[in-house]
Amino acid sequence: MVDHRGYRSALIILTDEKDTPVTWAANGADTATESMNAALKNGQLPPCCNKARHSKDVVLFRDGENLAGECPSAMPGTNSDLLCSRLEHNEFIAGYLVAKVRHQLGVDSEEQSLFADMAGDIAYALGVMEMDADREKMKEEQKSLQNQILQAQKMEAVGRLAGGVAHDYNNMLSVIMGYAELAMDKAEDNESLRADLAEILNAAQHSADITRQLLTFARKQTTNPVVLDLNETVEHMLKMLRHLIGENIKLIWRPKAGLHPVKTDPIQINQVLANLCVNARDAIDGVGEIVIETDDITIERPHLINQTETVAGPFIQLSISDNGCGMDPETRDNIFEPFFTTKEAGQGTGLGLSTVYGIVKQNNGFIEVDSEPDQGTTFKIYLPCHRRADDDVSEQAEHRIPQGRGETVLIVEDEETIRQRALKCSNS
Ligand code: ADP
Ligand code: MG
Repeated sequence: MVDHRGYRSALIILTDEKDTPVTWAANGADTATESMNAALKNGQLPPCCNKARHSKDVVLFRDGENLAGECPSAMPGTNSDLLCSRLEHNEFIAGYLVAKVRHQLGVDSEEQSLFADMAGDIAYALGVMEMDADREKMKEEQKSLQNQILQAQKMEAVGRLAGGVAHDYNNMLSVIMGYAELAMDKAEDNESLRADLAEILNAAQHSADITRQLLTFARKQTTNPVVLDLNETVEHMLKMLRHLIGENIKLIWRPKAGLHPVKTDPIQINQVLANLCVNARDAIDGVGEIVIETDDITIERPHLINQTETVAGPFIQLSISDNGCGMDPETRDNIFEPFFTTKEAGQGTGLGLSTVYGIVKQNNGFIEVDSEPDQGTTFKIYLPCHRRADDDVSEQAEHRIPQGRGETVLIVEDEETIRQRALKCSNS
């Protein structure tokens, strides 16, 4: 414009969706004054752009017209006209184009329509670039989401298969082993029958070892539980959660002092909290509050929580409450369904709560929701309290058995497989 059209100066400002200047470039006389740069950096558009914002057409400012504030040609008496147009393509507003031209040239209708064409071309190019970037981003998000879903489905299928098969299979094996042992007793001195039964027992034991490996494998892939203080785990996450929910929402943390330990995977706790806090944030319109609390509670009698029968015993309760929009009963009944969402496309995946549900279930816990329209929402998660004894039982049991001090045990047995078994017992 300056070089080829003889304009005195030209300025282009790109703005974000809130019409705040993001980046700008200028060429020609009196454009990049320090105060204008400072105003733009401060998020202020020059007054000419403010006037052009609501106009589809090129806006003309004649020489001397008083535009209060910093403009490329706001100073009266500079003997220039100012042309200004917003850069718009298909409702997408990319910013503004401003040009300072010789006095009287701005009035020329041909010059104005040429200027409008240039602004249109630039806006078109910017619009296409924006659309391409959006499309690319959407494609990537879709791909990553699809991968996540596939991965989650695969894990669930593998886990369910391995877990289900191994569980049923183990039950059958214990029946086989139990009856084989009973039959062994009844066989008394029928050596050949005892030998056959011993083979059955051996094979069953071997199968049980294989199933145990399968189960360990399936679980190892998904979780890594450790005994932890839930308060500490939550504390480590607070900063990230505050960041996630933004400044308008207050995050209140009420840890119960001396909380019992739980045995769970801290990464899963992170996932649960992040999902619940994001939902709470989405439910709050503007200003609000989220409260995270922990408590020790005892479930006295088994009862139904969310269609799952609880067991009685000591639990840790982790609750997340918000004073957001709450839910009606229909919504409440469906929230744990995978892909159930009330949010607009692109806002929600409907996978947050189904993930939380899966995690809680995997940890032998329960999840409860309490919500009314306009009354806010509380999610309560119950995780079984970890008793030190759970871990130490096998160790203690081992310790209680008197340890050998190099003595010798003589076994007299003519049957080879039983001798082998006895040997195995003494080795383990
Ligand atoms: P998404 O957040 O992607 O929609 P979720 O599984 O996390 O999926 O949540 C499912 C639905 O449950 C949400 O769309 C919303 O309707 C409802 N919901 C979840 N948490 C809250 C909450 N704290 N307050 C109100 N509604 C909620
Ligand atoms: Mg969610």
